[in-house]
Amino acid sequence: MCSAAGLVNDGSRKMDGSLQDNPRRRFLVADHINPHKGDAYKFYLGKLQTLCPDHHDIVKQAEERRGFVCDAGEDGWPTDPMHPANR
Ligand SMILES: [Zn+2]
Repeated sequence: MCSAAGLVNDGSRKMDGSLQDNPRRRFLVADHINPHKGDAYKFYLGKLQTLCPDHHDIVKQAEERRGFVCDAGEDGWPTDPMHPANR
């Protein structure tokens, strides 16, 4: 998510690019691309991606709760087919 926003982040930065001032958040998270929701098979065998703690704890988990992503295309319209504007 950081790299999609043009930011190279090894865990030393917040998602806005500023330096991470909380030493307990200077790491990258192994995030399950598809939520495992307690399913052991999905937990152990699901695909992973690395995210900074901000993107994992704030953005990704909010997307999972909502069930859709709020990213917009160049025309400003939401790109996720699950977004309410596309249903
Ligand atoms: Zn990030």
